[in-house]
Amino acid sequence: MEKKVDILCVSPHPDDIEFACSGTIARLIKEGKKVAYLLCTSGDKGTSDFTIKPEVLSKMREKESQAAAKVLGVTDVMFLRFPDQGLEDTAQFRKEIVRGIRIYKPETVFCPDPYRKYLWHRDHRITGVVTLDAVYPYARDHLAYPDLIEQGYMPHKVREVYCWAPDDNANHWSDITTTIETKLAALKCHESQVGDHFEETEAWVRQRAADAAKGRKFKLAEAFHYVDVYY
Ligand SMILES: [Zn+2]
Repeated sequence: MEKKVDILCVSPHPDDIEFACSGTIARLIKEGKKVAYLLCTSGDKGTSDFTIKPEVLSKMREKESQAAAKVLGVTDVMFLRFPDQGLEDTAQFRKEIVRGIRIYKPETVFCPDPYRKYLWHRDHRITGVVTLDAVYPYARDHLAYPDLIEQGYMPHKVREVYCWAPDDNANHWSDITTTIETKLAALKCHESQVGDHFEETEAWVRQRAADAAKGRKFKLAEAFHYVDVYY
């Protein structure tokens, strides 16, 4: 039941990690860290194609995620299969994130920054806030979910959280200069999302990484809001 890793990436949709933090994930894997993905939805609404059925799309996108994970060297991908555009701050969603944390027992969690202002995909906002709540105090406290304990999911204390895509409250910049090509290769696996305009996507990703590194010692970066879990 337990599949210990160093890092757990909690993602609302299948391509979010590759867009937001896969340069950092690729570097950490190269440095020897073990990483797992916890995908909250399988992205069944992520298309402008009127002919594709949601169930076909979600299967396609799960495969794309697995391919991207393989490019990066991610150990395991777990699918929660909540409906796309349907994530809410519910006891059920929180419990599934807690279960994921207790299965993978990570030191470090990556999730969306929930405190981005104005336009922000609701699934991202909700995943961020629910993941932070799951980290502290729910995953840590055995009385939070007595039924999870009965099922063998024992408490776990996460040490730190990196919230990706912060707007004006970034406090950590990660060097992705040597892993940008791996990031782009992983991103390319999400064919249903970027297949017909990959060149544009690539230019945007490179520009965004250069902008995030402005004023730093390195050329390309991903920005985060870092949270030290001191409880
Ligand atoms: Zn997303």
